[in-house]
Amino acid sequence: MFAFIGDVHGCHEELSMLLAQIPDGHKPVFVGDLTDRGPDSVGVLRLVMGMVREGKALAVRGNHDDKLFRALSGKDVKTSHGLAETLSQLSRETETFRNEVREFLGNLPIELILADDSISVSHAGLSEDLQGKNNSKAKGRALFGKTTGKNDANGLPERMDWAQEYHGGRIVVHGHTVMQNVRNLNNVWCIDTGCCFGGKLTALCFPGMQVLDVKALAVYSPRDDFETD
Ligand code: MN
Repeated sequence: MFAFIGDVHGCHEELSMLLAQIPDGHKPVFVGDLTDRGPDSVGVLRLVMGMVREGKALAVRGNHDDKLFRALSGKDVKTSHGLAETLSQLSRETETFRNEVREFLGNLPIELILADDSISVSHAGLSEDLQGKNNSKAKGRALFGKTTGKNDANGLPERMDWAQEYHGGRIVVHGHTVMQNVRNLNNVWCIDTGCCFGGKLTALCFPGMQVLDVKALAVYSPRDDFETD
């Protein structure tokens, strides 16, 4: 049994409250984007890294995790959308911890296929043709989702609602796209309910599909930043 957990984005307190609610026997599975925007990215990393190390949780890589990994690997990345604050928090930690974070993030898979091949978990969700693939197209889609190739009014990549046409055999669980409430469309479950923007942090329990959530204790990040979650 699993409890899929939406984009945490540094919301350590809400995560602790949510984990306390998860029924026994459900292994937490993080859908990525552990850091940035919320108040305590280091606290979230420390908690989740410990759980994963002990075999008590699983996680996939989000676009924010990927960018933090590249930053910690010395790559030149833009530090917008909360990354600057995360790097600032990390600069106050030991080099050993920063190395552990880099190694942890670098080892995060882009997709997990769980529950006897019945669920595909990735950050932005993979359509049937890209599930179980380990190529650059699948990686790009898993991190950033399906886009039209055009930009929206805010200059950000315009996203496609690919779940509307999903007919795959597997249940898909993903985050990345902020929804007011958990959405299940054609067995594609989006569980990012925008905690860092003052929404809530959500867990989806499998197999019962029970939804648990914790309301954000504050609005940590402006909503106009959310399209690049
Ligand atoms: Mn996100």
